[in-house]
Amino acid sequence: MAGGIAAIITITASTSHSMGVALADQPPTRVAAADQARQQRVNGSAEQPPTPTIGELVAQRNQLLARSSDRIEAGRQQTALAARQDILADAAESVEEEAERLRNLSTFYWPTDGGVSSGFGYRIHPILGIRRLHNGADIGGDCGQPIWAAQAGTVTKVAPTGYNGGSGRNIRIDHGEIDGNDIQTAYLHMNKIEVKVGQKVNKGDRIGTVGTTGLSTGCHLHLTLYKNGRASDPLDYIKK
Ligand SMILES: [Zn+2]
Repeated sequence: MAGGIAAIITITASTSHSMGVALADQPPTRVAAADQARQQRVNGSAEQPPTPTIGELVAQRNQLLARSSDRIEAGRQQTALAARQDILADAAESVEEEAERLRNLSTFYWPTDGGVSSGFGYRIHPILGIRRLHNGADIGGDCGQPIWAAQAGTVTKVAPTGYNGGSGRNIRIDHGEIDGNDIQTAYLHMNKIEVKVGQKVNKGDRIGTVGTTGLSTGCHLHLTLYKNGRASDPLDYIKK
């Protein structure tokens, strides 16, 4: 009896052994295939990309948001830069205009044809015969020849008739501030006056004609330049 049991055990062992060999040679069972697929999911494989986790998706979304927010910021900065460039261009234009205005103010227009017959300074007066300040420059010329505004400004005085203390017919133009000084010019002994008080004139505009009215020995323009209210040498400003 005992010999019989031993035989059965041997047979069983042998059967088990032969079955084990047989398993290795056979194609994988369904369980083995599922296990392999799970293993591939864990390890990752070339054919099948791994399914992203929620954390990975959130990270991807955050990355996209950050990138688009970067693009929006770049666009905003570009717009701001363009606006700033516009402002700078406008400012440069204003500076150039102001520089042009100042260049314009720094040069004066020779107010009538002819040279200087008597300059600014003390002299023996040609009619009165006494030494006194000649407070302007005598220029030109023939009676009736045009007089032009030496600088842009506003006419502040017109004396159309009379002796006027020797000045004869005369006008005055206020040029405002030039190089930090209030500058005005006055045109004396005129024949014809062609402007009115309050009228704005440009440099070189015709304002009247040369005469010999008032205390004068002959046809000429007496030009006075007032610097902060004081008569100064007009030739400091007005160059031929
Ligand atoms: Zn004079």
